[in-house]
Amino acid sequence: MDHFEIAIIGAGISGLMAATYLAKKGKNSVLFDKGRGPGGRMSTRRFGKFRLDHGAQFFTVRNPRFEKYVQSWEKAGVAKVWCKGFSGTGDGHPRFCGAEGMNSIPKWLAGQLDVRTGHKVKSVRFFNKSWHLDFEESPSVSADQLLMTSPVPQTIALLEAGQVELASSTRKFLSLISYNPCIAMMVIPKHPLSMPENGGWQINEEPIQFVADNQLKGLPNPGQALTFHLGPEASTEHWESEPEKLSELVRGELRRRGIKLEIKDIQIHHWRYSQPARIHDESCLVAEGVPNLVFAGDAFAGSKIEGSVLSGLSAAQAIGV
Ligand SMILES: Cc1cc2nc3c(=O)[nH]c(=O)nc-3n(C[C@H](O)[C@H](O)[C@H](O)COP(=O)(O)OP(=O)(O)OC[C@H]3O[C@@H](n4cnc5c(N)ncnc54)[C@H](O)[C@@H]3O)c2cc1C
Repeated sequence: MDHFEIAIIGAGISGLMAATYLAKKGKNSVLFDKGRGPGGRMSTRRFGKFRLDHGAQFFTVRNPRFEKYVQSWEKAGVAKVWCKGFSGTGDGHPRFCGAEGMNSIPKWLAGQLDVRTGHKVKSVRFFNKSWHLDFEESPSVSADQLLMTSPVPQTIALLEAGQVELASSTRKFLSLISYNPCIAMMVIPKHPLSMPENGGWQINEEPIQFVADNQLKGLPNPGQALTFHLGPEASTEHWESEPEKLSELVRGELRRRGIKLEIKDIQIHHWRYSQPARIHDESCLVAEGVPNLVFAGDAFAGSKIEGSVLSGLSAAQAIGV
């Protein structure tokens, strides 16, 4: 069985940043992710000739430590300023995105790390002083230390599957965390929809929260490809709805605003854990009751991409560098 010093579950931005920090300090780690590629919710998808961001659309920067990393991403050509606000002339604060889609950033980070995609962990167990990861389709591995960055309900399921007994305080902290769902609707329109010049329309209402024109945003597309994010209420209510019903919902809302949308092609993605509704107030959580286990991700002190990055960095430090 392969044995590692540090194993990380999840190659989203928090896991990748933890591994990046560990590597800088001379510590090797290995990341396992069930996805076909790295990035988690910083995701860019192909749709025929088009590419669309269907998870996170942009991020803001407040923390100076995060700012330094973003500057290095800009220097590497994988991040850029999208705009300085979505309404009117903007509020002056930069909104960043990936240079050719949000996934440009995690893809670049992963290129410098040991990332094993297509590895779905089905349980996590602790015995013989090591953590053991069992996969759906690959041989199990073990590690001295384990960092879990999957959305917390998925993390809890993996620990339960391996009958890991956490202290009641740790169990309680984890059980208080919750997430909002989000239905993402990707649309190739028959006729281009009139969009704000920068391609971002922040509505922040129900049923539509945000609309992005991926071409105006800078993804290399031959025409307009739109991403609609439904709000948490509409996403919950319509979780089981067919694409026809979802497109009627969106078209109806646009009609109410005097806008006509005719759809040529449509794809739907369901984000069960899109953004945390309730977070833990520390930037990571060191498990009690079992040794060498740390939890991180956007549900720890901050939410969003900035919070995930800071959580990953803080978890790397908690691991002991
Ligand atoms: C629709 C949507 C809109 C958003 N909008 C914004 C925004 O505008 N601005 C912003 O800052 N943030 C936004 N976010 C949130 C942002 O994307 C997240 O906060 C951030 O990407 C989370 O990173 P993470 O590493 O913590 O988790 P994730 O990106 O979820 O990474 C966790 C990884 O764990 C993997 N995993 C899970 N279970 C297993 C398993 N059993 N085995 C192996 N791997 C597993 C997953 O495949 C995933 O890659 C949005 C998110 C969504 C979905």
